[in-house]
Amino acid sequence: MPKLLRFSCDSCNFELETWENGLIYVTDGKGRRIECPHPGESYKIARVLKIDESEIFGFPYMRIPNPDLYPLLNERVGVISDCICLDCTALSKLDYQQDERTCTKCKSSNILPVDNLEGINCPKCKTGVFEYHSTGIIS
Ligand SMILES: [Zn+2]
Ligand SMILES: [Zn+2]
Repeated sequence: MPKLLRFSCDSCNFELETWENGLIYVTDGKGRRIECPHPGESYKIARVLKIDESEIFGFPYMRIPNPDLYPLLNERVGVISDCICLDCTALSKLDYQQDERTCTKCKSSNILPVDNLEGINCPKCKTGVFEYHSTGIIS
């Protein structure tokens, strides 16, 4: 189940939170991304894809009852990650597997998913390093 992760700079008080493994989305018939927050991903995906939820029950955490639907899910379902720009510190929501890896604000390609921040130099104060903290929050 998704865990809320927190990263903070050990020098300034810059702090970021993100859900482990990102946020699931499904693409509708018009190519729009519809976010599917936990819990209830399989319900929302089934609604958008117009299939029966019982066929994909447990997705993406368990093997689904109807494996014939995996190609459709692979095509239409993706994961949005919170990404931080190490140049301007803006956050972008990107499908890191599919999207161009550039900051939506300054177009820099110097970006990273927030859940990979541990040990990275802080882009705000430039002297500190990010540390990971467990929040104990699980959705
Ligand atoms: Zn800092
Ligand atoms: Zn930027």
